[in-house]
Amino acid sequence: MNKRLSRRGFMASLGVAAAASAGAAQGQAETYKMTREMPVERGWDLIVAGGGPSGAAAAICAARLGAKVLLIEATGCMGGMGTNAYVSNWYSMSDGEKSVIGGLILELSETLCKEGNATPESIEMYRKGEVLSRVGFNPEALKSLFDRLCAQAGVEVRFYTRVIDVDVDRQKKNVNGVVTSNVEGYRYITAKTFVDGTGDGVLSSLCGAKAYAAGTDTPKIMPPTLCAMISDIDYDRLKKGTQQAMVEKAIADGFFSQPDRHVPGLFRSGKSTATMNAGHLFNTNALKCRSLSDAMVLGRKLVDEYARFFRKYMPGCENMQVVATGNLLGVRESRRVVGEYTLNYEDFKARRHFPDQIGIYSKAVDIHVYDLSPEEYQRYYKEFSTMDRLKKGESYGMPYGMIVPKGWTNLWVGGRCTSADLKVNGAIRDQPGCSILGQAAGTAAVQSIRTGQPACDLDTEMLVQTLRKAGANLPQNTLTKKMTRASDAV
Ligand SMILES: Cc1cc2nc3c(=O)[nH]c(=O)nc-3n(C[C@H](O)[C@H](O)[C@H](O)COP(=O)(O)OP(=O)(O)OC[C@H]3O[C@@H](n4cnc5c(N)ncnc54)[C@H](O)[C@@H]3O)c2cc1C
Repeated sequence: MNKRLSRRGFMASLGVAAAASAGAAQGQAETYKMTREMPVERGWDLIVAGGGPSGAAAAICAARLGAKVLLIEATGCMGGMGTNAYVSNWYSMSDGEKSVIGGLILELSETLCKEGNATPESIEMYRKGEVLSRVGFNPEALKSLFDRLCAQAGVEVRFYTRVIDVDVDRQKKNVNGVVTSNVEGYRYITAKTFVDGTGDGVLSSLCGAKAYAAGTDTPKIMPPTLCAMISDIDYDRLKKGTQQAMVEKAIADGFFSQPDRHVPGLFRSGKSTATMNAGHLFNTNALKCRSLSDAMVLGRKLVDEYARFFRKYMPGCENMQVVATGNLLGVRESRRVVGEYTLNYEDFKARRHFPDQIGIYSKAVDIHVYDLSPEEYQRYYKEFSTMDRLKKGESYGMPYGMIVPKGWTNLWVGGRCTSADLKVNGAIRDQPGCSILGQAAGTAAVQSIRTGQPACDLDTEMLVQTLRKAGANLPQNTLTKKMTRASDAV
């Protein structure tokens, strides 16, 4: 499959930090245009960039349909935030009465429970045949489960490999190939179709697809958190519902370096383990390397501080240990690609369902505090706990157009960077939602290859039927061949 590039070398234009130069002296960013030869690899049906909940789902589900799939992942495992950032807790998987999930994410949830790799509470729910509304899990088990499912489906996975550039026809809005970088150097790889599962919309952005970068359509960026894996919690003594009072007490005691009233806290992931989600890294821009790097350093300090808080103030946590902090920063907001349809707050409030929906979900809008002011905490509390909380039996639909960058023919997005307004992005970005969107993206790519239908004009009736066969929970009665577009919105 490998050849050396026959044409005059693939032109990769890379921004390189420059020493003093005329351009830099004049205040212009200096760039270095690199022309080099690199090996060429052809023959893939689908390339998926990023192996988080969305990318892994896209790759596995497309390969199960018979596609030849290459998954490119920057780190050494799949799972994204769920493994590499220790965000090892899935919830909002039911509407309080019945399951809203299906497909791969239900399979993953059930397998983790069946194999004893989830919290005692989740395992018990599974054992009794109850609706699995939340699953806390062992992140190591999820890594291995993804390895196993990819191997079974025939996905070729390349770890420690990053998509760094693209070859696109911007007129036709068609992607020809990607450039990857890993220990072997650079490589140019072609495919028929592409899915962006990078969370940050890296592939779409390299392609030139329109996207909102965090902080450009809002004055502030929702802060990330560096999460950690915690052990040795005595859950028999840890009392639910007492944390906020203890946070207030610690603030009054002057315990914290940053008096943040919004502490998501400990989320059980096993018998005595938890994800610690505490400490907002305000003013971080996840699309800037300097900012990301500074956030990791401050994040580790905050993890230590919050571990001391829990040990001192929360009975049951006296002996808790910080096992590890995430390799990936817990980024809540970076890019939102502009799709054929942008799911918006009006849709959310109306609990709107769509004939072409590729998934349904029931998570509330969850926009964390932008700063430490009491007003921000009140705003958050009002939105998340009351105003934007769904009642029992309520859910909303996620239409197909959310995963198609506007006008693109062979490119889809899954996960956190899909097309939603800021508020709704704060609802659908959880891992179950991202997995559902990723499964649909991989399935749509296979349909596109088989039928010749471009991403931006895919038969959505056919897609919904294929997703249903794969177990997706799509309860709509009416189906349509044409996707819902912005102009159809009511
Ligand atoms: C602090 C925090 C707490 C959260 N809490 C919860 C929770 O309790 N429950 C829940 O369900 N969700 C939670 N979420 C949300 C959820 O974890 C993420 O939104 C979700 O994981 C996004 O999935 P994704 O597939 O889009 O991207 P990610 O999970 O971010 O995965 C992206 C993957 O792409 C890879 N990648 C990136 N760039 C490249 C590249 N150029 N080339 C190759 N690979 C690349 C990354 O290494 C990563 O593996 C939380 C998020 C945060 C930040």
